[in-house]
Amino acid sequence: MDEERQAFRGGRVGDPSPTSGRAWEGVIRRYRDLLPVNDTTPVVTLNEGGTPLLHAARLSERVGADVFLKIEGANPTGSFKDRGMTLAISKALEEGARAVVCASTGNTSASAAAYAARAGMTCAVLIPEGHIALGKLAQALVHGARVLQVRGNFDAALEIVRRLPDHAPVVVVNSVNPYRIDGQKSGAFEIVDALGDAPDLHCIPVGNAGNITAYWKGYCEYRAAGLATRVPRMLGFQAAGAAPIVDGHVVENPETIATAIRIGNPASWYPATAAASESGGAIAKVTDEEILAAYRLLAVEESVFSEAASAASVAGLLRTPVPAGARVVCVLTGHGLNDPDLAISQVSVPAAVDATFDAVLDALAL
Ligand SMILES: *Cc1c(COP(=O)(O)O)cnc(C)c1O
Repeated sequence: MDEERQAFRGGRVGDPSPTSGRAWEGVIRRYRDLLPVNDTTPVVTLNEGGTPLLHAARLSERVGADVFLKIEGANPTGSFKDRGMTLAISKALEEGARAVVCASTGNTSASAAAYAARAGMTCAVLIPEGHIALGKLAQALVHGARVLQVRGNFDAALEIVRRLPDHAPVVVVNSVNPYRIDGQKSGAFEIVDALGDAPDLHCIPVGNAGNITAYWKGYCEYRAAGLATRVPRMLGFQAAGAAPIVDGHVVENPETIATAIRIGNPASWYPATAAASESGGAIAKVTDEEILAAYRLLAVEESVFSEAASAASVAGLLRTPVPAGARVVCVLTGHGLNDPDLAISQVSVPAAVDATFDAVLDALAL
């Protein structure tokens, strides 16, 4: 490692916890010099980021590569959305905003509600009626957001949200807000910091396509700063029933059990295809059956309870030929607890027995 890079890690720029002896303070303080902030930018943080990069032994064996899982469900509101929200809300506060708004399939609303509450701002949320997982809706509501269910899908809700700033004093915090992308690129920085360089392959679910755009930006910026020697091939995965980029046209009625990627007209469509082609990667689709198989495999074989949408990255990896020994990172974008209904639907209800020792011993069949 060269000296400049050592200096970066040693706290001059990034303030990493191992050498500074300080606790993790969130992505803005950790990566301040690579983010659009200055000394007067207020930092609205829940100490997001710093998530585990977990080696997946059984998955590695299955695919004949060295596979790591980036556990984004470990973020404060249970998904990677917190990385972008800390910056979007901090910048909105810096600009004097009193209110923020977003359309959401769930996790964006949970994150926006939490960070807006932290900043003392009003948060308004539009969600597609009947298509939002319980754990996410619960968070938006308990953090005090103004939540409206729209009789339409995510794409329709986002279209309305994008027009609101022309009519009301409010900042949009969807990933059409460039600060969201800038905050989310910190995930790539952390992966390179942990591995010592960029991986060979980066697998990621694609919904509105902001995250694949952000990771690619992060890898490229780290290489440009001399903090990585290379960039990975970016492999993005859409659900088969919601695969506008792969199919090459807007999907009017996207359908998938992976509600976080149930999007028919991605806001970051072009940058996502650029990330795939510039990196020598691709965007492909995986079926709901493959997603659910990967979801169960992750829980049973790797002890990681992720969202169905997150499992799309692993479902995609499982159907991709991988060079032997390649270093692979799969981003697991959100926590399984965000969607308890789906989890319960995938297992059998526990049997009930009499409260006697013999009945229990019998039933457990140990
Ligand atoms: C938002 C989200 C996605 C999709 O990310 P995009 O940036 O919209 O492509 C995937 N998984 C989870 C859990 C999410 O919350």
